Amino acid sequence: SQQDVEQWVKGVCRYCGTGCGVLSGVSKGKIVAVKGDPDCAVNKGKLCVKGILLPKIMDTEDRLLHPLIRKNGRLVRATWDEALDLVAAKFKEAISQYGPDSVAYYGSGQNYAEEAYLANKLFKGCIGTNNIDGNPRTCMASAVAGYTTTFGKDEPMGTYADIEQADVFFIIGANMAEAHPILYSRLVDRKNGNPDVKVIVVDPRRTRTADIADVLLQFVPGTDLALLNSMAYVIIEENLVDRDFVANHTNFMQGEKKISFDEFKSFIADYAPEKAAGICGLPAEQIRAVARLFAAKGRNTMSMWTMGLNQRIRGTWANNLVHNLHLLTGKICKPGNTPFSLTGQPSACGSIREVGALSHLLPAHRVVANAKHREEVARVWGVDPAKMSPKPGYHTIEMFRAAADGRLKALWVVCTNPGQSLPNLELYRQGMEKTFLVVSETYHPTRTSELADVVLPSALWMEKEGIYGNGERRTQHIAKAVEPPGEAKPDVWHLMEVAKRLGFEKFFAYKDTEEIWEEYRKLTVGTKMDLPPYSRLRKEHGLTWPVPDPDGPETYIRYAAPYDPFVKEGINFYGKPDGRAVIFARPQSNAQEMPDSEYPFFFSTGRILEHWHTATMTMNVPEIKRAMPEMYVELNADDAAQIGVKDNDYVHITSRRGQCRLKAKIDGRGQPRPGMAWAPFHDTEISRMINFVTIDAFDDISKQPEYKICAVKIERA
Ligand code: SF4
Repeated sequence: SQQDVEQWVKGVCRYCGTGCGVLSGVSKGKIVAVKGDPDCAVNKGKLCVKGILLPKIMDTEDRLLHPLIRKNGRLVRATWDEALDLVAAKFKEAISQYGPDSVAYYGSGQNYAEEAYLANKLFKGCIGTNNIDGNPRTCMASAVAGYTTTFGKDEPMGTYADIEQADVFFIIGANMAEAHPILYSRLVDRKNGNPDVKVIVVDPRRTRTADIADVLLQFVPGTDLALLNSMAYVIIEENLVDRDFVANHTNFMQGEKKISFDEFKSFIADYAPEKAAGICGLPAEQIRAVARLFAAKGRNTMSMWTMGLNQRIRGTWANNLVHNLHLLTGKICKPGNTPFSLTGQPSACGSIREVGALSHLLPAHRVVANAKHREEVARVWGVDPAKMSPKPGYHTIEMFRAAADGRLKALWVVCTNPGQSLPNLELYRQGMEKTFLVVSETYHPTRTSELADVVLPSALWMEKEGIYGNGERRTQHIAKAVEPPGEAKPDVWHLMEVAKRLGFEKFFAYKDTEEIWEEYRKLTVGTKMDLPPYSRLRKEHGLTWPVPDPDGPETYIRYAAPYDPFVKEGINFYGKPDGRAVIFARPQSNAQEMPDSEYPFFFSTGRILEHWHTATMTMNVPEIKRAMPEMYVELNADDAAQIGVKDNDYVHITSRRGQCRLKAKIDGRGQPRPGMAWAPFHDTEISRMINFVTIDAFDDISKQPEYKICAVKIERA
């Protein structure tokens, strides 16, 4: 309890991409309480139910306390030396027999930045393979591709502070009330204090977020490209375009070809609301009303989205089309005016997008395909640039396909649970069984560690020092508050010990995480993604980059004076050579798998408030487990009546790939539109794991899989 606390230690919540500041109360070497950090600008002292119960994830029955090695089919206790020697021997053997591309690393948006940085250096710089990817590929890759194609640089221009300045909120494909509850509470406060504030929610499922909506567009799944184009049509037709902004700051493109405004106008002519209404299953007048609200002169508009747009085979295009609306109306790069992609994980931005821990990236938004970028990185890493491969490595789906078909000989998974979270799961679980699988984990068994050949025990959040970067470009420091239990060690230690055994010791001679960070920080200097020094992060409550002056201010809005230190006056989208952002002509395009007579329902998945991802942590919290012990499937009441299913009846959900069995919920927290079913993806029980059903088709630009839409049949179990 709070009375017993001897010391409060500053950190950041372990869960979602909001990045709430926390203070952990330590007593007798344990974290016994957590409270919101009142000095953190993100949450100003508030926490959601997951954050407040964080201490309960530390000291659990399934904490892994020592290394494990598979012997005669069983995972048995081993010493650190035995486990690390075996990992190094197997990786060495694969590299010498089959080349560096026969090994891979799969990381996480929950890793600290230093961990991801070291993994990148070991694999891309020393081993010479770009086979590094991570779970943000399944979560944020389409947002990355959306920002880079439209603006030339990744990550949002705005910050959460825009919430308090916006008059109109356009929320599409995001259930903020459950997935980003503290940001949602800021939005609710903004609306309650300002009755003129309008909230538009666009979602095929009526969620808790819709409780504060002035307009709810419950459209047909997968028709958002038509809807967003139709809004652009109305904006052009009704003369709501900011012509000066468009003339000075944008180009129009169709694919790789530059087009004129008039050509864009003829492209968009296909999307008159009267026509789009039929595609989207919405009244035309509602589309017009929403476009007018979005574009209203003198009002500030902020868009927010997450997996509903990103986890799609046309996720990049959907991101581009939201940017289009802001660029056409000039509602961007001004307080309260911004497109803003919400991040799923606590450090998907800080540890993956910024560190460059995806198969095509290098630190500070560099790319492996660029020779100059490789040289810049090699110089700081002290490695031979000729050793670094210009060829992007395996992205997530390709990596696990390579495991399944035998191309991948050894795979190291750190801080994530692909044995439960990948789509079309059966195939990839088989792949993980086939390859030599190393898993660095806090808990055992998980659905991934049960498939491993070696399991290395990891220190958990606040048992180690490190850096997170949240969804608004905020870099945040987490102090070490307590010792890890048993023989558990920080993931940076796992990486350094394996690097040593592979013969790369001299590249990994760090005395602490500050040294790792300062080396990484060198790679950010002068990139306009300049990160602040560790010493400052230790003291302060997070800083939004770029911070080019180590003692100077953070950056509220990118690309715009007077906020962005790299822009002298006006607006400059400096990610593009001519400083202009792109308005893309992108047509409506269906999901990979559409309902048919055999599989008549759209099926979609998502989060609920209480649980986090594959629930390895939250199912360990008794209060949460009691409240939400088992996942379920939400059905529309009309559909349920038609298939003869009542509330709490069990149903089988079957796709072309697999099946799961869940309790039906009718009129639950969310209500999908007719013809659609929805389920949370948190259940750990094999028969209730919905990723046996989901599809692994992916966006050809971002390589992000289409978790959000597949076709299923639903029958009484
Ligand atoms: Fe943690 Fe997200 Fe809840 Fe904040 S909103 S306390 S970051 S889970």
